[in-house]
Amino acid sequence: MIKIGEVGWVEKEVPACGPLDAICKPLAIAICTSDVHTVWEGAVGERHNMILGHECCAEVVEVGSLVKDFKPGDRVLVPAITPDWNSLEAQAGYSMHSGGMLAGWKFSNFKDGVFSEYFHVNDADGNLALLPPNISVENACMLSDMVPTGFHGAELADVQYGDEVLVIGIGPVGLMSVAGASLRGASRIIAVGTRPKCIEAAKKYGADEFISYKNGSIEDQVMAMTNGKGVDKVIIAGGDVNTFESAVKALKPGGNIGSVNYLGSGTYVNIPRVEWGVGMGHKTINGGLMPGGRLRMEKLGSLVSSGKLDVSHLVSHVFEGWDNVPVALQLMKDKPADLIKPVVKFAD
Ligand code: NDP
Ligand code: ZN
Repeated sequence: MIKIGEVGWVEKEVPACGPLDAICKPLAIAICTSDVHTVWEGAVGERHNMILGHECCAEVVEVGSLVKDFKPGDRVLVPAITPDWNSLEAQAGYSMHSGGMLAGWKFSNFKDGVFSEYFHVNDADGNLALLPPNISVENACMLSDMVPTGFHGAELADVQYGDEVLVIGIGPVGLMSVAGASLRGASRIIAVGTRPKCIEAAKKYGADEFISYKNGSIEDQVMAMTNGKGVDKVIIAGGDVNTFESAVKALKPGGNIGSVNYLGSGTYVNIPRVEWGVGMGHKTINGGLMPGGRLRMEKLGSLVSSGKLDVSHLVSHVFEGWDNVPVALQLMKDKPADLIKPVVKFAD
């Protein structure tokens, strides 16, 4: 990212490795909707000559003197969020906010990202995880952000066995929310989205019924499908500040909303007074950045390596070589109908 609205290549020194850190080189990278928000919508503010990217798997090339569990040559999963695990925020259970609001999100935000021949990982023992040998490099990239973020939506919504769940948005994040809700035991999943390729993938991940937000209000359609009762839980992985209105209206009293959506515009989130039980409906609204961390990476990695979660339906485009990184980024910006996630490989 040269500046807001402009991308190009920059030449930089290889980053220095502190005692707890690792220096890695990517085996493959994936482009995120957030990269597009960062460059073309100024989502994190102005940045000059910042290396983009926070989704990859990698090979370790150097570790600091205090790193215990990783060594050069190890192939690793790299989470998009890399908290400082000794921070007070992490000790309080909110690792993603270590050092300040959202400050666990360091790559391509507070420091250079991973679309680079070499990149820096803080707190290597706390943040990296070994890449299971039976996961391909392109599938491994889905574990950086799509799987943990989509699954965090299901956690924030507190999906329980037998719940009827509405998932708003079935881009790659929402698809993983569908998969997460399904694994947590949802009995019925209603998904909101229109792209046929995403609908096809959502069915594979466990969505039962579909709603188009272009065919009238989401809440009216949900009410018609649930005999006027609404759903137990809502996960938001798409839409805007107004989507909360639909989510609250579609939710039963006592239900939970888990939002992992990035709200890029508007000043306020809209909560409808009457459907929020005039303030007394016990409808909980939770919004969060995914927590990151090695334990989560290892657990989610083992879901993929065991075959219980097949992330390959997310990977719609695979390129090879650095020259194709701008091509893949432009593709994510253009979002053609057949796109879910573009990946660029540098190794097998
Ligand atoms: P996509 O743009 O690929 O998908 C968005 C989905 O929302 C699509 O299914 C789209 O439908 C649907 N949608 C669009 N507008 C509306 C609307 N008005 N009402 C309801 N649904 C709508 O995004 P991603 O899956 O890549 O990412 C989803 C969000 O998650 C983004 O905002 C992203 O920035 C955020 N994110 C958050 C992270 C976190 O840690 N919290 C990490 C990574 C991403 P259609 O099929 O018509 O396109
Ligand atoms: Zn991402």
